[in-house]
Amino acid sequence: MPELPEVETTRRGIEPHINHQTINDVVVRNHALRWPIPKQLRQKIRKQQIQSVDRRGKYLLLGLETGTVIIHLGMSGSLRICTANTVVEKHDHVDFIFGNNKILRLRDPRRFGAVLWTTKQPAKHKLLSSLGPEPLEDGFNSHYLFEQTRKRSASIKSLIMNSHIVVGVGNIYACESLFLAGINPKRKAGSLSLARCEKLVSAIKQVLAQSITQGGTTLRDFIRENGEPGYFAQRLFVYGRAGEPCAKCGRPIKQITQQQRSTFYCTQCQR
Ligand SMILES: [Zn+2]
Repeated sequence: MPELPEVETTRRGIEPHINHQTINDVVVRNHALRWPIPKQLRQKIRKQQIQSVDRRGKYLLLGLETGTVIIHLGMSGSLRICTANTVVEKHDHVDFIFGNNKILRLRDPRRFGAVLWTTKQPAKHKLLSSLGPEPLEDGFNSHYLFEQTRKRSASIKSLIMNSHIVVGVGNIYACESLFLAGINPKRKAGSLSLARCEKLVSAIKQVLAQSITQGGTTLRDFIRENGEPGYFAQRLFVYGRAGEPCAKCGRPIKQITQQQRSTFYCTQCQR
């Protein structure tokens, strides 16, 4: 599933090709994504220039003159830059065709993604209005996390994966960050000290930033004309490593289920 680092890498990959370009046409081959693509989309955005290519959480925001196209990649979506010569494949649902002859193409086999249009401030759109701070921005800091965790009996893992608290910490990143911070994923959020919140915040920032940096090195793969998106083969300490020795203490990594998601952690190093 595309997580925040993949979405940010996608943003960086497509921006130089489409920013300040005019949308000459839009082709929607299948409207039935997670929410239907607006029937009037083509009519509304044709002949408009892209003025910004932003990201909020896992949403990509194409700023146009009269509004914003909101794109979400869902479970299996990817965007690539291609040309009119690029063969359209089965799951290529949407093309944005630009004046520079480049095409921004959305492929989404499982169709949990979304392409929406809003004339409001995107931050006020119902999908974005209740999102927590960006993890890599200053608003996400130890004092903020400490405040948000007070009197919360939920596990710290579920709390950091809650997009109302902070966006973009998916399951893999939550497991890895908690390992780096030495925090047991089952620990009640409200029991964390400010110092441990500080450790966790910096671990989250480190894990996400590293992943984005690695994404940068595979950028060409990400937006190449054909082929599948290259999700990052990051070095993982705990995720997917049940039974393997912990990199710090050598004891086997344990796997449990929390809120229907797999959690991987070291019972010795994470308290
Ligand atoms: Zn360990």
